[in-house]
Amino acid sequence: MKLLLLVLLVCLALCLAALLHTLVTPVRKSTYQPANDDPRALPYARKLSRMVQADTCSFRDTPQPAKFAAYQALLRELFPLVHEKMEITDLDGSLLYKWKGLSDRYPIVLMGHQDTVPVEEGVWEQPPFSGAILDGKVWGRGSVDTKCSCMAFYQACEELLAEGFVPPQDIYLSTSCTEEWGGPGCPAIVAELERRGVRPWLVCDEGGGLYTSPMPGIRGTYAMIGVSEKGHANVRLIARGPGGHASTPQKNSPIARLSAFVCAVERRSPFRSRMEPEVRAMLETLAPAAGFQIRLVLENLWLFRRPIEWFTPLISGQAAAMLGSTITFTTASGSEAANILPREASLGANIRFVHHQNMDESLEVLRRLAARYDLEMEVLSATPCPKMTDIRGSAYRYIETTVSRVFPGCVSSPFIPTAATDCAFYDSLCDSCIRFAPVIYSPEERRSIHGVNEALQYNCLPGAVDFYKSLIAHSDEACDR
Ligand SMILES: [Zn+2]
Repeated sequence: MKLLLLVLLVCLALCLAALLHTLVTPVRKSTYQPANDDPRALPYARKLSRMVQADTCSFRDTPQPAKFAAYQALLRELFPLVHEKMEITDLDGSLLYKWKGLSDRYPIVLMGHQDTVPVEEGVWEQPPFSGAILDGKVWGRGSVDTKCSCMAFYQACEELLAEGFVPPQDIYLSTSCTEEWGGPGCPAIVAELERRGVRPWLVCDEGGGLYTSPMPGIRGTYAMIGVSEKGHANVRLIARGPGGHASTPQKNSPIARLSAFVCAVERRSPFRSRMEPEVRAMLETLAPAAGFQIRLVLENLWLFRRPIEWFTPLISGQAAAMLGSTITFTTASGSEAANILPREASLGANIRFVHHQNMDESLEVLRRLAARYDLEMEVLSATPCPKMTDIRGSAYRYIETTVSRVFPGCVSSPFIPTAATDCAFYDSLCDSCIRFAPVIYSPEERRSIHGVNEALQYNCLPGAVDFYKSLIAHSDEACDR
């Protein structure tokens, strides 16, 4: 009885401490808003519109030299100084630009990609290659992913070149034409840099950005700075059986075992749920802008971290993806006819790894679980998580400083994107691979990526150009000497 009372008193004291801590922690919101009357926005939108009008959809293992040559001719027309003054290496359509700076010790690579995903069936409000400028938006495939950030860094270089500016450090622009299917474009660029002995101090690619409402319950526009990304794999789970006629069914048929496996995984994730330090830093950064209940939990992770790790997977799949590896079943095959038992049935699945349970361990967990259902697992492709960029390191801090310089009132937060980018190919060459495109992505814009009605609100483009200009111009202040 005494023990129970003691436990109750301790719980009460902890809750009171959390409550008090929340009450005294000041509310801090990210207040940055882009100007709506910047006269540069429309001319920039027109350049982006021209880039969107050039169809650069890419397809697995399908070289399309004429398509990308036409796009690159357009780039030469839109950004003449970049194409006149920089040294350009063409690697089967993927481009590496070098802008010689005063020093080659701390090179910076700005990244994007030329290609887009194909246009999905569905009702587009504006045709996908119209580049229509309407309702404050540039419409069409690639407007968000990632012709907007490419436009912004080309334009930043163009304006600085027009002023006769020489960057303090070597600047490279890296744009592959095979990003959307993880093709050989970016690896070829990385190999070329390696051949030249270039080790970038900072690589800045897409993946994060200025996110409006980055999480449910958090209002405002935050600089979500991607510090790594999840690893990924495609696997096939195979169940075998004797086959036979459907009129004489047997228990534990291949499809029954596959189904039982899927249900087990859906009921309880086989992966460990744990908060990486970077995820914790993100939640603590975003917490002060939330409503009181969310603040009470997120501002007291010393008390609530474990319960969040335990209960999140039961509540929200999206939030759980921040804390653990995930598996999604995507394809299925069985017998050819409705009245034949399959001798072999299989399921395809896509897996995303987190750092604390990376590729080998996550695959092993699945393999062991599959074996319990008498399933074999075939790994079709697998890539581990790339390195984590140090959030106390100079490159990360330089991005933060540039954000506060260019986007006043904007709060920066580390972030681990769940989608794969070309940036991962730089993992062996650079310790600070940042996923951050300085463009504003509303929830609607984030949803439009790879979907229908991709469209970018273009009032953020002047800020994006200024971000890259600042990143190029002030790099001498930032590098560790
Ligand atoms: Zn992309």
